[in-house]
Amino acid sequence: MAEEKHWQEGMKTHENIIFSCFGGLSNTGITSALACLEVVKELGLEKVAIGCLGAIPLNVAPVIGKTKAAKKVITVDGCPFECAKKTVEQSGFTPTKSIVLVRDIGMKKKALHEDIGENIKGVMEYVSQDDVKKAKELIVKAILEE
Ligand code: SF4
Repeated sequence: MAEEKHWQEGMKTHENIIFSCFGGLSNTGITSALACLEVVKELGLEKVAIGCLGAIPLNVAPVIGKTKAAKKVITVDGCPFECAKKTVEQSGFTPTKSIVLVRDIGMKKKALHEDIGENIKGVMEYVSQDDVKKAKELIVKAILEE
């Protein structure tokens, strides 16, 4: 097996980085993740990539390095717990912009456990494509604005 070449300072990297909370226990976290993926699909990987949120508090060197090298660090959280923003901040980064879907696009949070044993639906039935689109547009704007 070829030896993995870790990223090091000075190597090429994505221009900007987004950290999504991606909580799968609610519609808000899922929407955050899907919106971030849509942003990468729209703008392309040279312009932006989704950072590995779990690697930040673990001080995983390539992820920390790419975050330091990014022009913008955008955090996207579903709800006011702001897990992505707080995780990034606790590791010493100041997000260029923090987006919270409940606050910034008026999303209503739905905890998915509430429907267990009642009327639990397929996961995508809890996601509004309109919310994903609104969130995507807000993130794209944050990346492209000067
Ligand atoms: S910010 Fe809210 S939706 Fe996102 S992971 Fe944290 S608790 Fe879940």
